[in-house]
Amino acid sequence: MSDWEHFTRDEMKCKGTDECRMDEKFMARLERLRSDYGRPMVVSSGYRDISYNTTIGGSPNSAHTQGKAVDILVAGHDAFRVLRLAIIHGFTGIGVSQRGMYERRFLHLIRQKIQTRVPAHGYGVINDGP
Ligand SMILES: [Zn+2]
Repeated sequence: MSDWEHFTRDEMKCKGTDECRMDEKFMARLERLRSDYGRPMVVSSGYRDISYNTTIGGSPNSAHTQGKAVDILVAGHDAFRVLRLAIIHGFTGIGVSQRGMYERRFLHLIRQKIQTRVPAHGYGVINDGP
């Protein structure tokens, strides 16, 4: 399997198992966001195997385990830009973590038809889109 235009399988893979089962439609959407953004995006979490997700205390229903979530390290004004583009590009769940050390601040972006839980590590700004 090849990498995507702006993201590598290595950066999207599970940090516990090294597997990468990202949803291709999700990645196509993320690529469109990235193209509009026009700058590098740093991924802190992409695909997570269920066992690894449990280990790190992720939500049991986390979209990361379905390959339909990504955490992007971004802060300040850039975070507003990514947030706006995420809404425009149809991400249906957006978690915002913007406290603590600047380089650890992130946005959690998901695409799910039904959002049943607020992301465990976010502040739960949920936009229940189509
Ligand atoms: Zn996340």
